[in-house]
Amino acid sequence: MSEAKLSLRCVGCGRTFDPPALHCTHCDGLLRPEYPTTTFDPGDRDDLFDYHDWLPSTAVIDTPVGPTVYRSERLADRLGLDDLVIAFNGYAPAVGATNPTGSFKDFEALPTVLYYREHGADALILASAGNTARAFAYAATVLDFPVVLVVPGRAMRRLWLPRVASDAVRLVVIDGNDDYAFAIRAAGVIADTLGIAPEGGARNVARRDGMGTAILEYARRFGGLPMHYVQAIGSGTGGIATWESAKRLLAAGVGSSLPTLHLAQNAPFTPIHDAWTAGAAIAPEQDVDGQLARIAEIDALVLANRNPPYAIPGGVRDALMDTGGSTYAVSNEDARGAAALFLEAEGLPIGPASAVATAAMIEAVGAGRIRRDDATMLHITGNNEMLLRRDCALHPLVPTVRLHPEEITATRIETLRGAILP
Ligand SMILES: *Cc1c(COP(=O)(O)O)cnc(C)c1O
Repeated sequence: MSEAKLSLRCVGCGRTFDPPALHCTHCDGLLRPEYPTTTFDPGDRDDLFDYHDWLPSTAVIDTPVGPTVYRSERLADRLGLDDLVIAFNGYAPAVGATNPTGSFKDFEALPTVLYYREHGADALILASAGNTARAFAYAATVLDFPVVLVVPGRAMRRLWLPRVASDAVRLVVIDGNDDYAFAIRAAGVIADTLGIAPEGGARNVARRDGMGTAILEYARRFGGLPMHYVQAIGSGTGGIATWESAKRLLAAGVGSSLPTLHLAQNAPFTPIHDAWTAGAAIAPEQDVDGQLARIAEIDALVLANRNPPYAIPGGVRDALMDTGGSTYAVSNEDARGAAALFLEAEGLPIGPASAVATAAMIEAVGAGRIRRDDATMLHITGNNEMLLRRDCALHPLVPTVRLHPEEITATRIETLRGAILP
C-alpha cells in the first residue's frame, strides 16, 4: 500500500475520509479528493498521466490513453463561432486521439484500476451496458488485474477489444433480463457474496479525476478555461468532473471563472433535463415501464442512466447551479443532423452521444446562450468503432459465466466463486 496521496472530503458535511472510501458515513454527499499539489504543472508525457498530480493513483504507466483537444476551423465557421475547441476523446489518429476502446471511458478505467490496486483490492466489479465495460476490460488486460463485468445479454455485441482480452477480464452475462438496472443489482449481489470491491461509478474519485483531464488538457493547450463546456450526459459524471477540475484550476490561478456547463440528453429519455427544468429532484424507480419504453427510442443508449447522481451534495444539480448551466433534450433527428454536419465539417464520424452534444451546442448558439466570440469546448466523448475497425482487429469478449436472473442469489453465486474469480 502506498503512502497517502490524497484525502477525501465530503461535499455535504465536510468530514474527511481515507481513500478509497466511496460514501460519507453521515450524509449522502460526494467525497471529493484533495491533493497536496495545488499548482497546475502538467508533465510532458502526452498521455493521461501528464495530470498525475491530480489523479488518485501513485503509479504511472505508458499508455495511448489521454485527452486530445484541437481548435476547430470548419465546424466553428459553419456555426459562426470564433473560438471553438473540440475535445476529441475517442479514436481518431488524424487528430491525435488514440483511446483504445473509442470513448472517454478509457480515462476512467486505467486510473480506477491503479487506484484500487494501490489500496489493497484484489478485484473490482461493475455493471455496464457498453463503453464502460470495454474500457475496464482494456484496463484489466493491460494491468493484469481482475475486473468482473456484469452485462445484460443484449450488450454482448458491443463488447470487444482491439487486442485479445486477458484472463483478468471476468465477463458475467445476464441472459433474459436486458435492463441495465438489473445488471447493477446483480453486480451488487455478486460483490457482497464474493467480497469484491464495487467500482463506485460517479462516487469513484478515480473516474471523476480521469474524466477531468479533458479540461486540464484545454488549460494546458490554450491557457485558461473555456466560457462554455458542452457534453452529452447519462449519469452526468463528466459534468461533475469538469466542474471539479475547473475549480482546481481556478484555485491554481488558471482561468478567471468556471465554465458554464451545457449538459445534453437524448429525448425522449431526459431525466436530468426534466428535473433541472422543473426545479425538482428525480424520483427514482418511478414508472419503470415508461422509462424503459423511452430508453428503447433513443439512439444514444450510453446516455440511458435511470438513477443519476443528481440531487446529492456535489452532484449534477450543484454543478449546474454553481456554473449557471443549462440542460438540453435533443431528438434523434437533430442529433443525426448534427453528426452529419460534424462529419462534413471536421471529416470525422462521431458516435450518437457526441451527436447529441453537438446538436445541443447548435441549439445553445441559436438561443444566444453561446455567443460568437465565447470560448467554447465541445466534448466529443466517443466515436464508436468505425475508425478502430479500419485500423485494428476487434476481438469479441468471451463470457466467463452466463446466468439467468433467478440465479442471482447469494447461495447460487457462492457456488460459482471459482468460476467468476480467476
Ligand atoms: C458514458 C458516456 C457519456 C456520458 O457520460 P457521463 O458524463 O457519465 O454522463 C457520454 N458519451 C459517451 C460516448 C459515453 O460513453
